[in-house]
Amino acid sequence: MNKEIKTKILNKIKEYDKIFLFRHVRNDGDCVGATKGFKRILQLSFPEKKIYLIDDDNSQYLAFMGAEDEAVSEEEYKDGLGIVIDTASEKRISNKNYLLCKELIKIDHHIPIEDYGDIMWVEPDRSSACEMIADFYATFKSELTIDTVAATHIYTGMVTDSGRFKYEGVNGETMRNAAVMLDTGIDTEKLYAQLYLDDFGYLKFKARIYQRMEITENGVAYIFIDKAMQEEFGLSLEQASSCVNSLDSIRGAICWIAFIENGDEESSIRVRLRSRFVHINPIAEKYRGGGHACASGATVYGWEEAEKLLADADAHVKEYKETHEGWL
Ligand code: AMP
Repeated sequence: MNKEIKTKILNKIKEYDKIFLFRHVRNDGDCVGATKGFKRILQLSFPEKKIYLIDDDNSQYLAFMGAEDEAVSEEEYKDGLGIVIDTASEKRISNKNYLLCKELIKIDHHIPIEDYGDIMWVEPDRSSACEMIADFYATFKSELTIDTVAATHIYTGMVTDSGRFKYEGVNGETMRNAAVMLDTGIDTEKLYAQLYLDDFGYLKFKARIYQRMEITENGVAYIFIDKAMQEEFGLSLEQASSCVNSLDSIRGAICWIAFIENGDEESSIRVRLRSRFVHINPIAEKYRGGGHACASGATVYGWEEAEKLLADADAHVKEYKETHEGWL
């Protein structure tokens, strides 16, 4: 699929001596795995080229994947090719020096909200951006080199963004691409331990979430996590934000939302929206966000606006339930 665009991208890569990889703010397993995995494939395949992944927006949860490259001067970017992976809009690109690159490529699997770059390869139906990188490797494998390290990065993103191959978007193609990665000898037991073991204290926090979670009339499960609760459990914003996943298996709650207070002067609240059957991205888009049909993010200001978003989500779910059958 999309062989023409992928060939254009490979030719561009061949044209440049210097390539910079970029990803989104508040990084996750997919954007980290895709940029790290692609960097390593390109470095192994074209040892004479300089490939950089520079980003100071790092995640504690993904620290096991290793550090990024040291910063370089702005001058360095000017004759380079920039490749932005897993990022729907320019404002979400974490390293703003992408603006200095001579040419820019966008590789993404989010619902498109904005065009940018000289070449765009966007496939919203892919379960992860890492799946696209795996597919890129599989398409040109006679010209590219992979190893277990690169494949493990890519597999990490495939696993995390698809909820361990559970979410909408996972299909035979996903599994075929995952198989290409697994064939390199990934240590899945270690990887799953790195990704999914919780600290004792975090489980205590989870217990509190289950005590405090609420559900709206039409089946939107939600939780408000204020700064005080984060402090009580000694949680980083990232750890507190992961609570959204605890609400994902309540029968009838086909949408679930976590509101996490950022603790800034603007009273901003991070909103993480998830759903099954019903698509939730229209609600995220109404509140300065976006993402995928069933996994989106947004920002609201103050608890009053949070309540408004919740009411919109509830009405959206009500309408869905009244007009559809088969949801659980
Ligand atoms: P999150 O809950 O932050 O993990 O977001 C879920 C998905 O939506 C991820 O793929 C994010 O990259 C995407 N996303 C989050 N916030 C935004 C936003 N403001 N605009 C566009 N996409 C977003």
